[in-house]
Amino acid sequence: MKRHTKFIFVTGGVVSSLGKGILCASAGMLLKARGLSVTMLKLDPYINVDPGTMSPYQHGEVYVTVDGAETDLDLGHYERFINEDMKRVNNATTGQVYYTVIEKERRGDYLGRTVQVIPHITDEIKSRILAAANSNGGHDVLITEIGGTVGDIESLPFMEAIRQFGLEVGRGNALFIHLTLVPFIKAANEFKTKPTQHSVKELREIGIQPDILLCRTEGALNRELREKIGLFCNVNANEVIEGRDVESIYECPLLLEKNGLGDLLVNKLNLKTREPDLTEWKKFVHRIKKPSHQVRIGICGKYVELRDAYKSIIESFVHAGAVNDARVEVVWLIAEDLEKENSEALLADLDGLLVPGGFGGRGFEGKINAVRYAREQKLPFFGICLGLQCAVVEFARNVCGLEGAGSREFTKSAQHPVIDFQPGQEGIPRMGGTMRLGTYLCDVKAGTLTHRIYGVDQISERHRHRYEVNNNYLDILTEKGMILSGICPDNDLVEIIELPDHPWFLAVQYHPELRSRVAQPHPLFCDFVRAALERHKERTP
Ligand code: GLN
Repeated sequence: MKRHTKFIFVTGGVVSSLGKGILCASAGMLLKARGLSVTMLKLDPYINVDPGTMSPYQHGEVYVTVDGAETDLDLGHYERFINEDMKRVNNATTGQVYYTVIEKERRGDYLGRTVQVIPHITDEIKSRILAAANSNGGHDVLITEIGGTVGDIESLPFMEAIRQFGLEVGRGNALFIHLTLVPFIKAANEFKTKPTQHSVKELREIGIQPDILLCRTEGALNRELREKIGLFCNVNANEVIEGRDVESIYECPLLLEKNGLGDLLVNKLNLKTREPDLTEWKKFVHRIKKPSHQVRIGICGKYVELRDAYKSIIESFVHAGAVNDARVEVVWLIAEDLEKENSEALLADLDGLLVPGGFGGRGFEGKINAVRYAREQKLPFFGICLGLQCAVVEFARNVCGLEGAGSREFTKSAQHPVIDFQPGQEGIPRMGGTMRLGTYLCDVKAGTLTHRIYGVDQISERHRHRYEVNNNYLDILTEKGMILSGICPDNDLVEIIELPDHPWFLAVQYHPELRSRVAQPHPLFCDFVRAALERHKERTP
């Protein structure tokens, strides 16, 4: 039986980057803590079918779901906060919506009618909202985040669709939260409410009256200010919620709970719930705020200028830090810098090195140099996806003596393509959605570091890559000491490698960072931080 779902729609105003994704994730977490079943939907107004084809500089990280969808990085926040798997159905883009409508038109489904934004595009958007609500047997609450800022041309069909949707399900079944900014103007020594007033005015022009305003500020929004905002924006002062800047995103749910968001949502949607249980979350926040130790972990990548490109890795280190009572200080290393003379100095005072995923050859040789340093200097090393491929190339060249070992991705005519196309990937003409994507099983070899960490014989992890370790080179790699500690049983592909006689040298072809959550920190990150902490203690006795 389908549940009677309640709908929360979240829009943003004034400027972007106010943290709509974190607000949605926090609201979801507060409702889940009250015993409700919650799911999320991100609506992205861009025309790309998914972010899979976009540069990390444009979009940040591509978040891969268990069912292999390439999605917006906000889905990562949702999973980390509400501890539920998001799927393909939890993210939709303008590109997907139009794609579906145009396919229907070509099939003749519209029976000769003119196909228009209203009702055809808006109907398709509404059907995606319903599909998310009804996924996995239905949910008590669906929180839908509309990407972009009110006033953007691209988001108009989404705004119109949620307006219609709210009307159709009726008051008490849907509510609108609008996230705005209340800036502090130093010269006047005042908080200014005008941008919020204008933003709400714009929203009301397209027919949406927000029920709750969440106002980002640097300081306290006193009663007087909240009353003023309420008066101009047609809400009560208690429906204007202060969203003050916090040190860590994980404090947001606690702050919003304190400021009354949880109860307001429940009351406005007539939901019957128990008191929220935030005990574990509070403990976690306490641990990350005052850790006893500190470690320095270098991340050597190509896109380090844009931290969003490594969002899930950064968050995984926060979770793993909490487990180890340590703050992980990330040291960003531009891969190309490691191609220069004497660049080893950049790695000298690290406690661990991580080489993350990536595409394209820029900085590849710098990453190889960094891996070599970590292997030779016994610096804890963690390779992810391209990071594993770098580790294999480095080992092939410098331990196996295979001069000219490389990856087919960067050197088409590599003498020893130790990293090569996966079977079936060569000659795929379309770039979008054609990599090895989503969850695959992996058998873990007994007696390995990997097995000690996971403690089980089989794991499942999420993938996003086109290239793989070339099985023709497995004999020489293992002869020279590399341990293949994880193999995919479906197709015999190498998923995990490690090196003996090293405190911690492990690399994986999948993306463990996509599975780390507050409630379930990822074991590989936890153990890597533990090893880095040991190195730190040796280094600074
Ligand atoms: N570019 C590599 C591949 O396609 C690695 C991908 C990644 O790191 N996500 O296999």
